[in-house]
Amino acid sequence: MSDTNFAQRLTETLGPDVVTTAPDDVAPWLSDWRGLYKGQAQAVIRPRTTEQVAQALALCQQAGVPVVPRGGNTGLCGGAAPDGNQTNVVLSLDRMDKIRSIDTIANTMVVEAGCILGNLRRAAEDADRLFPLSLAAEDSCQIGGNLATNAGGVNVVRYGMTRELVLGVEAVLPNGEIFHGLRTLRKDNTGYDLKQLLIGSEGTLGIITAAALRLLPRADSRAVVLAAVESPKQALELFSLLFARCGARLQAYEFFTGACLDLVLTHVEGIHAPFAERYPAYVLVEIADTAPEDVLNALLESVIGDALEQGLCLDAAVSASLAQLQSLWRLREEISEAQRADGLHLKHDVSLPIEAIPDFMTSMETRLAARHPGVRPFIFGHFGDGNLHYNLSRPLGADPKWALNEGKAVSEDVLEEVARYDGSISAEHGIGQLKRESFLALKDPLELRLMRAIKQVFDPSGIMNPGKLL
Ligand SMILES: Cc1cc2nc3c(=O)[nH]c(=O)nc-3n(C[C@H](O)[C@H](O)[C@H](O)COP(=O)(O)OP(=O)(O)OC[C@H]3O[C@@H](n4cnc5c(N)ncnc54)[C@H](O)[C@@H]3O)c2cc1C
Repeated sequence: MSDTNFAQRLTETLGPDVVTTAPDDVAPWLSDWRGLYKGQAQAVIRPRTTEQVAQALALCQQAGVPVVPRGGNTGLCGGAAPDGNQTNVVLSLDRMDKIRSIDTIANTMVVEAGCILGNLRRAAEDADRLFPLSLAAEDSCQIGGNLATNAGGVNVVRYGMTRELVLGVEAVLPNGEIFHGLRTLRKDNTGYDLKQLLIGSEGTLGIITAAALRLLPRADSRAVVLAAVESPKQALELFSLLFARCGARLQAYEFFTGACLDLVLTHVEGIHAPFAERYPAYVLVEIADTAPEDVLNALLESVIGDALEQGLCLDAAVSASLAQLQSLWRLREEISEAQRADGLHLKHDVSLPIEAIPDFMTSMETRLAARHPGVRPFIFGHFGDGNLHYNLSRPLGADPKWALNEGKAVSEDVLEEVARYDGSISAEHGIGQLKRESFLALKDPLELRLMRAIKQVFDPSGIMNPGKLL
């Protein structure tokens, strides 16, 4: 039952423009982006300041009310959707969206947690700098959500995950205390790095209210090649050559199978086959730099020429214009849309030690053929980071609800195989509600024990995002 006295106290303290309790106004805040989860909440809190977040959390802790932090709600594991407890409150950061400062000497930027990622990337660009975190949801997700999930995206091979781009964090702990960790220092070896515990904590330790971020030089010149490869093993060898020859300029190394390309050509309009022949798999490589574009193109052409000569790829198409660069990227970017058009399917966002990818893919194929014959794999992803989207669609002619009926058993097989190769069952999307059961079953017991101990220190009353992660 919702607690009227609590909601009243919250409204009196924070004001009716910050606290919403009318069921019709609360309803839009109860489900996740994919529509997989829908929960309950007695109120939505939309603070404008860190102090208001602190007041809200202190009241929630006193009353034992669960708090569900909410960013842009683009998370893919149900982390920002409340569970079925009617006393939940959803705390949205959407009104805390200011850029507090940009410093082009220290190359740092201080932003509030509710700042939309695309907006802060554009603000950095206006100051002639780059904030390199980039993902397809960037015009909806918030930087606080990116920190809370330690988001990845397409440029990790060059710039690392979110945690590598953060210098400082301001956060509110469940008891209302403010963690003043908003430092912009590059070097600070004074004990445990507590901000790193908050990054990737999926709202289970506290509310991130602001972040100090690293800025980099803009690398506006880009060159792209699509290379056809025989196998994941060949993709690995080609990666090694490109890494050695292009160094830090290598900023994307994306892989997709021939089946993914066929799916895109079937379901997406305005896409043309990149080569006269079809090949088993492809890699899309992007290099970028501050140097002029012709220097980059010459470098890429020379490396790919050598790769063809050494038998490290079967065919290659280098972009000669921005339009060609964009159409090569579309082949990769449209895979999710094409798979959606093909019907309900199973998604697995996994990572592996990069050198294990070829063996993993072979043993996965054997396991699927033996246990789930006819299943259609559509495998693509950020190969350079060891990250595969190992997606599976129903056998041809099977019930369209196959993913709902058979999904659990099939996914268990995939995740067990990932664990066997010392991989991760969640490369960049987090755990949330979706992967909690597998996470608890497969994570090392010592690591789980340490995580529970950390949770206990930050959130002894267990009000932060219950039912997620741990
Ligand atoms: C089309 C699409 C493409 C995507 N591509 C990628 C990709 O390439 N790489 C990738 O990593 N992800 C990707 N994602 C997933 C998603 O965009 C990221 O996980 C993103 O970081 C979530 O940010 P958000 O603001 O939407 O957070 P939300 O979905 O609102 O929340 C995510 C989690 O963080 C918590 N949280 C949110 N804000 C705070 C805060 N201020 N303090 C504490 N906890 C908080 C929530 O409680 C929840 O547990 C994609 C999603 C979509 C829809």
